[in-house]
Amino acid sequence: MKTLFKAVPVLAALLYLSTAHALTLTPVKVAPDVYAFIGETGGRTYANYGMNANTGFIVTDEGVVVVDSGAGYLAARAMHLAIKRVTGKPVKYVVNTGGQDHRWLGNGYFREQGAEIIAARPARADMERRSGAQIEALRADLKDRLEGTRPVYPNRLFDQRETLRLGGTEIQLLFFSGGHTPGDSVVWLPQKKVLFSGDLVYADRLLGVLPFSNSRNWLASFEAMEKLKPGKIVPGHGLVCDLDQARRETRDYLRLLRSHMKKSFDGGVDLQTAINRLDQKNFARLRNYETLKGANASQVYLEIEAE
Ligand SMILES: [Zn+2]
Repeated sequence: MKTLFKAVPVLAALLYLSTAHALTLTPVKVAPDVYAFIGETGGRTYANYGMNANTGFIVTDEGVVVVDSGAGYLAARAMHLAIKRVTGKPVKYVVNTGGQDHRWLGNGYFREQGAEIIAARPARADMERRSGAQIEALRADLKDRLEGTRPVYPNRLFDQRETLRLGGTEIQLLFFSGGHTPGDSVVWLPQKKVLFSGDLVYADRLLGVLPFSNSRNWLASFEAMEKLKPGKIVPGHGLVCDLDQARRETRDYLRLLRSHMKKSFDGGVDLQTAINRLDQKNFARLRNYETLKGANASQVYLEIEAE
C-alpha cells in the first residue's frame, strides 16, 4: 500500500504535464447542433498545432459529422475531446473540404474512431500529390506536435454532389470547380441555411492565390455557392460571416485581381508593371494583406497569361 500512495503524486504530475501541453479547442455554436472551431488567422505555429483554419461539426441523433479533420493527429484528438464535451454520439463521418493540410491530416485519428472519410475526387488527388511536402513543411513548425500524423486518404469519394442523411439532418456535399485548391468543396445544411464553405471563402483575412489555386474556377465556384443563399457561412478562415461579407472580402478581391491583370496582360503590360499599378488598398484592412498582396497579384497575372 505504501508504494502505491507514493506513486500517486508522480502520476498526477505526469497528467498535469501532458494537459499543460495539450491543445484545448472551444467550439462556437453556429446554429442548433452546428459548431465551428475558429482557427487563428495567422500562420501555422507550434503553439496552434497547425490549426490556422476553421473546422467544425454537426450533431445528429445518429452521430456526428466532422467538417475537416485538422492539421494532424493531435489536433484531431483535441477536436474530438471538444466534441465529446457537447455530445456522447460517435463521429460517423469526416468530410474533407479540400486537399490542404489542415483540412485532412487529422484523418488518421478519426479513422481509428471508425469514421468514414469523404471528399470530392479532385481533393483526394490533390492530397496524394502534396502529402509528402505538406507533412515535411508542417514538421518544421510543429516538430513533436506532429506526432502520430500520417496521410490517411478519404475512403469515399464523390464527383458533383453527395447527400448524407443522418438522424433527420440532410447534409449536402457539393463540388463546383475548386478554387483555392483543385478539390475545394462545401458542406451545405439546407434545413439550417448554414454553409461550411471551406477555402472558397476567406473572411477577416486576405485570401491566398497559390500556385495550385485557380482564380477563374474560384469565382465560378463562388457564384454557384451564392445560389444556395446561405444565412450563415463558416468560412475556411476568419469568423463566421454572412454572404455579403463573403462577397466583399473574397469575391470582390478575386474580381479586382482578375480584371486588372486581364486588362494589363491584354494591353501588353509586363508582370512587374501590372503589379505596381494594381490598387488593392480597399483590402488593406484584412489581415495578412502585406504578406500576401504581392504574391496574389503575381499569381493571377501568370494564370491569365496561361489561359
Ligand atoms: Zn486554408
